[in-house]
Amino acid sequence: TERTLVLAKPDAVARGLVGEIIRRIEAKGLTIVALDLRTATEEVAAGHYAEHDSKPFYGSLIEFITSGPLVAAVVEGPRAIAAWRQLAGGTDPVDKATPGTIRGDFALETQNNLVHGSDSPESAAREIALWFPGLEG
Ligand code: ATP
Repeated sequence: TERTLVLAKPDAVARGLVGEIIRRIEAKGLTIVALDLRTATEEVAAGHYAEHDSKPFYGSLIEFITSGPLVAAVVEGPRAIAAWRQLAGGTDPVDKATPGTIRGDFALETQNNLVHGSDSPESAAREIALWFPGLEG
């Protein structure tokens, strides 16, 4: 079994899509082991997106991710990282995400693409420690 860090970003909360996103996680058979509504601090946002700090969209991305409440979750199951990325769809909601995925069904813009998921076991460990420092192993 594997764990991944899931975010329903501020656009998902603002648009009332949290229930739909959680429903898809549960319907897939994944298990939610932590779940929290919070507004990300600048510090957590910068830690989360450290790999993008030289990109042209970085400033806008930090502003967006800290702009309001989001839902952070730890999701567990067999191949949870890939399974969640399948549910989310590709980063660009129009060019990459296909219908049937969360981004393909509900998003239009690359920045405001509703959800995040860890991209590797190493990222998952790092991101879970960042967002849920109290969570065991
Ligand atoms: P996430 O990390 O949110 O799951 P991802 O792994 O699909 O997304 P990354 O390339 O890691 O995509 O980009 C992280 C986030 O930065 C994207 O989800 C999106 O919100 C934003 N982003 C990525 N590329 C762009 C871009 N060209 N313009 C604006 N925002 C972008």
